Amino acid sequence: MVAAAERVWRDPHRITLVVVTKGVMPDQIREVMDAGAFVLGENRVQEALPKISALGPGITWHLVGYLQRNKVKDAVGIFELIHSVDRLELARELDRRAAQKGIIQKVLVQTNVARESGKHGVAPEGLEALVGEVAALPHLLLEGLMVIPPLSADPEGSRPHFRWLAQRAEELRRGGLPLQELSMGMSNDFEVAIEEGATLIRVGTAIFGRGH
Ligand SMILES: *Cc1c(COP(=O)(O)O)cnc(C)c1O
Repeated sequence: MVAAAERVWRDPHRITLVVVTKGVMPDQIREVMDAGAFVLGENRVQEALPKISALGPGITWHLVGYLQRNKVKDAVGIFELIHSVDRLELARELDRRAAQKGIIQKVLVQTNVARESGKHGVAPEGLEALVGEVAALPHLLLEGLMVIPPLSADPEGSRPHFRWLAQRAEELRRGGLPLQELSMGMSNDFEVAIEEGATLIRVGTAIFGRGH
């Protein structure tokens, strides 16, 4: 992470490693916590909740996976940041539940950059409208954008998608929208993502191994 940041003269401290712990048991998660990781990401609410109670305080949890509407009430206020807001009805439900709990929920808008079918995320042409709508909801704090680019054997394959996202965020920022965070990059392409401006990288396999 530091090497990638230094290649493009970025401050490594502006990049947060979100350790993705899906499929990883609490004992193994404690090992990475002992190694200094305290921002953890899960991609399913049902899997996360028992781990959150098992591991106790001192961890910041992020939800990085698809969020079903009926799981919103369990997610709001539990996850510090929800990376996967991709439709207005989900944003509205998050806003409603956050209001009920008397909190402000931090979120990112997820984009399906390559318009892949079966992938979550708002289509590129719908991004600006959704971002504006989410930013206007009083109990959500929109912090930025998230992307999962098409699977590519070569990490360079992700670069145009990361670059596109960073440029869109910059344009929308100029329009007054607060999109300082870019969640992009996983085990295979986090270095490219950092070079392209990622502020949050989501890494599982490179830490825990495959199948752990
Ligand atoms: C699993 C997952 C990751 C981590 O992927 P790795 O390739 O294991 O690093 C990142 N983001 C999301 C949304 C995931 O579901």
